[in-house]
Amino acid sequence: MSPFPVSRTLSAIAVLAAILLWAAKAQQTVAGVAAVIEELVTANRILAMEGVLDGYGHVSVRPEKGGSRYYLSRSLAPDLVEPRDIMEFDLDSKPLDAQGRTPYIEAFIHGEIYRARPDVHAVVHTHSPALIPFGVSSVPLRPIYTMGAFIGEGVPIFDVRKVTEQTTDMLIRNSGLGRALAQSLGAYGAVLMRGHGAVVVGSSLQDAVGRSVYLQINAALQLQAISLGGTVQYLDADEARRLEAIPNRYQRAWEMWKRKAGR
Ligand code: MN
Repeated sequence: MSPFPVSRTLSAIAVLAAILLWAAKAQQTVAGVAAVIEELVTANRILAMEGVLDGYGHVSVRPEKGGSRYYLSRSLAPDLVEPRDIMEFDLDSKPLDAQGRTPYIEAFIHGEIYRARPDVHAVVHTHSPALIPFGVSSVPLRPIYTMGAFIGEGVPIFDVRKVTEQTTDMLIRNSGLGRALAQSLGAYGAVLMRGHGAVVVGSSLQDAVGRSVYLQINAALQLQAISLGGTVQYLDADEARRLEAIPNRYQRAWEMWKRKAGR
C-alpha cells in the first residue's frame, strides 16, 4: 500500500480533532463569559445593598490576565443591573457591541486603570458619602482597624483642577482625564476624588468589592474616633502589610453578601 492514503487519513483525523478542540474551546469561552457576567451582576447587587453604590457609581471586571477587554453595565442604577445590561469594552472604553445600550459617562475610569495596572482585575467607582469628607479635608484617611489594612499609609487624592486647565464638571468624561486619574492612583489600592467619590481596585471582583465595603466603614469609624477628640492610634505600616498578605480575605464575607443579595 502506498503511504498516500494513510497520510490523507491522518490529516483528515488531525483536521477533525482541531475542529472538535476549537468547538470545545468556544463552548468553554461562552460558559466562562456567562459566569463572569453573573459574578459582575452579583457584585453590583452587593455594592448597592452595602451602600457603596446608590443610583450612581459602577463596578467592572477584566477576567483575563493582562486582557484588553473588560465588562461593565450599561448606564443603570447598580441595584437594577441584569446580565443583559452587561457590555464588553476595549481599553479605549468603547463598547464592542452596544446594541443600542448607553454606557456610563465615566466608563473611561475603568479602561484607563486597566491599561495602567496589569495587576488590576476589578474596579469600583463609588460616591460613598462616608468617603467624601476625606477627599476634601487635609485630614488623611488612614487604616483604623484590621479591615481597613489595605489603606496602608494612606491613599492619594485626585483633584481634577490639578490635571487640566479647563473648567470641568468634575466627571471623568474622556481618556485623558481617565489617564490622569490612573496616574494619581499609581500603585495604590484606592484613590479618593475631591468632591466626587473614590475608585477602589482589586486583583478580583471579590477583592475590589470587599475593599470598597470596608473602605467606607473605615472612613465612618475614623470620623467617629476623631470626634472623640483625643489622640487616634492607627495601624502601623507593618501591621497593615501583614494583614494585607492574608490571601482571599473577603471570601467568607462574599458568600454571605451573595446570599443576602438574593444571588
Ligand atoms: Mn462619578
